[in-house]
Amino acid sequence: MLKRIIFIVLVIILIMAGLFTSVKLVKKIENNKDKITIVTTLFPLYDFAKEIGSDKVEVTILLPPGVEPHSFDPTPGDISKISNADIFIFTGEFMEPWAHDIITGIDNKKLIVIDASTNVNLITPAHNHEHCEHQEHHHDELGNKDPHIWLDFDNDKIIVDNITNALCKADSANEAFYKTNAEDYKSKLDDLDTSYKTYLANCQTRTIVFGGHYAFGYLAKRYNLNYLSAQGLSPDAEPTAKDLIVLVKQIKKDKINYIFYEELTSPKIAETLANETNAKMLLLNAGHNITRKDLEENTSFISIMQKNLQNLMTGLECKQ
Ligand SMILES: [Zn+2]
Repeated sequence: MLKRIIFIVLVIILIMAGLFTSVKLVKKIENNKDKITIVTTLFPLYDFAKEIGSDKVEVTILLPPGVEPHSFDPTPGDISKISNADIFIFTGEFMEPWAHDIITGIDNKKLIVIDASTNVNLITPAHNHEHCEHQEHHHDELGNKDPHIWLDFDNDKIIVDNITNALCKADSANEAFYKTNAEDYKSKLDDLDTSYKTYLANCQTRTIVFGGHYAFGYLAKRYNLNYLSAQGLSPDAEPTAKDLIVLVKQIKKDKINYIFYEELTSPKIAETLANETNAKMLLLNAGHNITRKDLEENTSFISIMQKNLQNLMTGLECKQ
């Protein structure tokens, strides 16, 4: 009888010890995974999330390096990345029309989804082809809002707030940390805005001629510039010969000496315009996505925008 009791006690001790170790193991695994995982679509969202979350977050960007984002469609692997994350941040319905279906299809009740354009005042593109009779290729864009909201530094501050709120919700213990980082970053955005206002105040021309798609509407509006783009809201529709002729006339009439070209797509439209008008070419990087080289060099949203300011000052021939 005594032997039997000792045996039972031993078994109970063994079970308890086992339970105790496995609890410890589970804790250990959880500790390794204590970073908040964030999946973003475009580069600015990725960069902002890293700035705010710092060492407490693990951020991934869905777009592979160098890929043009307007034609991007997520793979099943991307969808599984989103569903396993703590937070998913997308730009908005006009940039990622695929996001809505994916979010509603995901079975992860804990996933926090952030539409970065929440509280942002979306603008409708001002078409530059007023005297153009070929309106058909813009027709499907009527009613569409300009999705390039990150090209206005006040919008970026709203986006930063949206991301910060999500982080505070996912990890309330570190709320003060996230809020401090967000404030620091927003003051850098204010500095950037001040530089743009100062250095773009006194320029030979206020017209940006862009041999790419309609990406810089917000920036042009903010700094009181005219923006003429060869394409519409997305880079997949080719401009017609007539569109190009209208632009060439305008360039000659306004004595414009620089044509801007976009990142990640072929600069051939800008080259055509430059060749026709003897203008020089400069990069204006909308920062949708970055290349592998940029990623390795730790290129930031702010550094891209500083280079853009340099090129705008050259291209618009601004005096300091
Ligand atoms: Zn774009």
